[in-house]
Formats: sequence, structure tokens, C-alpha cells
Amino acid sequence: WSKDTVAVVTGANKGIGFEIVRQLAKEGITVVLTARDATRGEAALESLKSQGLHNVNFHPLDVASQESILALAQWLHNTYGRINILINNAGIVIADKDVTFETVKPVFDTNYFGVKNVTKALLPLLRDDTPGGARVIVVASSVGQLKYLESKNYVKTFSDREHLTEESVDNFANHYLKDIANGSLKEGDWVDISSMPGPKFGRPIETYAVSKAAVIGFVSVLHNTFFYQPGSGKKINIFSCCPGYVSTDINTNSGGNSVEVGADTPVWLALHSPEGGSGKFWAERKVIDF
Ligand code: NDP
Repeated sequence: WSKDTVAVVTGANKGIGFEIVRQLAKEGITVVLTARDATRGEAALESLKSQGLHNVNFHPLDVASQESILALAQWLHNTYGRINILINNAGIVIADKDVTFETVKPVFDTNYFGVKNVTKALLPLLRDDTPGGARVIVVASSVGQLKYLESKNYVKTFSDREHLTEESVDNFANHYLKDIANGSLKEGDWVDISSMPGPKFGRPIETYAVSKAAVIGFVSVLHNTFFYQPGSGKKINIFSCCPGYVSTDINTNSGGNSVEVGADTPVWLALHSPEGGSGKFWAERKVIDF
């Protein structure tokens, strides 16, 4: 690896994203640490520099803002001309148990639409000059696995990954948002929370799980669309993964694993881009069921 390889990491001022930046930077890669808050992002950058990692740069990015996404894309184009690795890490969960359209919408704007918009805006910058092709990694969650979804129709749609379309994943996300807006949902209508491992976070985890199922589905769509474009010479490997249950602010530090463990699979996917693994869902460096 050299500083000619450029990686971009979203939501990287703390938690797993910060650790992903640190591990990639230690490999000698040029890493763009992004964060929605410039003060927090600059502080994270300074912390890495104080560890001797000078191959890290900072640029603001709010993944829920198209204006912010386009500003980053322009800056990357002007500064590097291209990127090789994109890691969509930014993610949120509803902080309280008040599941309303107002609290749910930002979760989807970050965890699903944000990932889509960032990836689409940066796709033209992804260059195939990395051995094994350019890479996009999405940090999702195992709570987005289809085994937790109640709707057999959606499970069927998502299971046919080769024919999954962006429209059908959007419909899934928008259907959930509509049900929330109508106020007609009861706990358990969309997701079987009771069968999920770990602490019971209640309704907020339902929203989070649906948003993560959508984004894992989106990775299949991207893979089907961009993995190989005949004649274009462009190859992009696209992976979704679960970092495991990691102690960070998102779960009020209740996770059992360290950020080093949480960053391991996304970083490994970025560095190794395992053959035949694009479009699949990964955890602990292995393909697992969507
Ligand atoms: P943290 O809460 O520690 O970090 C989340 C990061 O995302 C923060 O930097 C936060 O920035 C950033 N972020 C939130 N919203 C936006 C936005 N609109 N634009 C840009 N950045 C944003 O959580 P983790 O490190 O644990 O989470 C990282 C990823 O891992 C998430 O996608 C999460 O869903 C996933 N994950 C985590 C698990 C765990 O056990 N920790 C388990 C499974 C998946 P700010 O500081 O400004 O809020």
C-alpha cells in the first residue's frame, strides 16, 4: 500500500469509523476522515497526527445533506482526482423510545438514503487502479438480516438478490416510513425484536434494523449494477458487513467488543477485497446470511 491509494471514511470522528481510519492510515494509505461536525472532525485528525499518522486529511461530510455530499465530491476531485476505497460507516439509532416519523426519518436519511447518496456521488471518482479493483464497504448490522423481518413478501424480494432493484429497496424503506407516519404500527409488525440477540433496545432497534436491511439490499443492487461493466474497464467490489457488537456511543458503550475488533472486518474487506465476495454480507471476515 502507498499514499497513492485514497480511502474515504464517513462518520469517522469517533467509534468504529475513527478506528477504521487509524488502521488504514497505518497501512500507509491516504485516508480522508470525514465527519458532520468540523470541530469534532479536526479534533479526531489532530489525535491521529499526534500518533504519527500524517497521511490523514479531513473534510466535512454530513451524509444526510446532498449539498454536503456534493461539496465533498468536488473537493476529492480537485484534491486527488480519484479515490480507491469508500467506507460508508456513519450510522445512527433513535436515542429515545419515541418512535415517530420525526425521529425515524433521520435514521433512514443517514443509514439508508445517506449511504446511497454518498456512494452514488463518489462512484465516478472510484478508480480501478487498486489491485483487485476499487472497493465500497458499507458498515451495516446483523440486525438487518432477513430472518428478523416479518414480511414474507419482502423476505422473498430481498432473497432474490440477483434481481433486486433499487426501486424495490426504496419501496421497502418508504413503506416503513409511511407506516410510521400513519401511526398504525405496533411493535413486532415489521421486525421480530424478541428473537434478536443481545440487550432488548425496544422499538428504536426496529427502525435501525429496517434501515440496515435496506442498506444491505442496496449493496446487492450496487453489486449487480457496478461489479462488472463490460467495456468500461471498471470493476468495483461492494461489500456490506457487520462489525459485531462493539462498545461505542451508539449503544451507550454496552457492546462487548473493542473498536479494534469492530474495525477489523471493514478494514480487512478494504485491504483484501476477497475474490467472489462482492455483493455479499460479511462478519468476522466471513460471508454470512443476509
Ligand atoms: P458511534 O455512535 O460511535 O459513531 C457513529 C458515527 O457516525 C459518528 O462519528 C457520528 O458523528 C457519525 N454520524 C452520525 N450521523 C451522521 C451524519 N448524518 N453524517 C455524518 N456522520 C454521521 O457508533 P459506531 O462507531 O458504533 O457506529 C459505526 C457504524 O457501525 C454505524 O453504521 C453503526 O450502525 C454500525 N454498527 C455498530 C455496532 C456496534 O455495536 N457499535 C453494531 C452494528 C453496526 P457525530 O459524532 O457527529 O454524531
